[in-house]
Amino acid sequence: MKILVTGGSGYIGSVTTELLCNDGHEVTVFDNLERGHREAVDPRARLIVGDLRSPDGIRDAMQSVKPDAVVHFAAYALVGESMQEPHLYFENNVGGGLNLLDAMQRTGVKKIIFSSTCATYGEPDVVPMTEVLPQRPTNPYGESKLMLETVLRWAQERSGIQPVFLRYFNACGATEKYGEDHEPETHLIPNVLKVALGQTPAVSVFGDDYPTPDGTCIRDYIHIVDLARAHILALEKDVTGAFNLGTGTGFSVQEVIATCRAVTGHEIPVKISPRRPGDPPRLVAGADKARAELGWQPQFADLRTIVQHAWNWHQAHPHGYGTK
Ligand code: UDP
Repeated sequence: MKILVTGGSGYIGSVTTELLCNDGHEVTVFDNLERGHREAVDPRARLIVGDLRSPDGIRDAMQSVKPDAVVHFAAYALVGESMQEPHLYFENNVGGGLNLLDAMQRTGVKKIIFSSTCATYGEPDVVPMTEVLPQRPTNPYGESKLMLETVLRWAQERSGIQPVFLRYFNACGATEKYGEDHEPETHLIPNVLKVALGQTPAVSVFGDDYPTPDGTCIRDYIHIVDLARAHILALEKDVTGAFNLGTGTGFSVQEVIATCRAVTGHEIPVKISPRRPGDPPRLVAGADKARAELGWQPQFADLRTIVQHAWNWHQAHPHGYGTK
């Protein structure tokens, strides 16, 4: 297939592009390189540098590629930043998405796999979380993703667009080539591994008084290769609608740190810090729908393997891609 990947220089986009290329697909990455890395774009893919906020660039790219489908990652993805500057999230994530949809409709492209998030659910009343839970985001990031889901659902209703919403839980891990390099880094596993690399003295644990067995938040950590595989399955199958992507098993912040200690052999001191605003105590996926309808089965559900892969990548790239 000919696939247009927006945001293919970011963490999840780079690995999905790598796997698509491995499978022999013809991939074009459309990316503004603002928060991603040129080095993270698989050299087998064509790169078009452009910004979704300007309609002409994506229109021209869509016309020249005429893809069979679009995989849409390009977006801002920092919850904290979205609370500080909501308009950035609506402008880029929603406005950019509208320009992408317009370009698809002009070119007659129907299928879009959209990188969505469990943040669209907000604080769930029950876990594991299935796709039928109400979507009540608690921050502009989650809201912006939900808004584009809504836009795409209406485009399906009114003009035959075929959207698939992949709602990720906590993406982590790496391939040999591509891994996680954000500036600033806010995610737990890379922040813990920075301590093991000697780059920071201790990792902050944001709250140890949550209503969980050890008092720290529980999350569902899903390997980036498993996430990427789900996109490819969604492209190959005749499906639409929403799918949660997680392993169905939750680990606490303390359990993640303990696993990082075991993998790295480093003592990893912790600093108990105040809660981070907006962190729900427990987010765990009910991913039976993805298993049943996509035939998706996470291969790296073991946290130790996930951390080992992340550690391998961070040791090989102690300063990330080294370009920012
Ligand atoms: N967390 C932490 N210290 C960090 C980064 C994250 O204690 O340096 C906690 C965070 O409060 C949350 C969990 O680890 O409970 C996962 O956070 P992350 O930012 O990785 O993902 P999120 O669940 O927010 O998408």
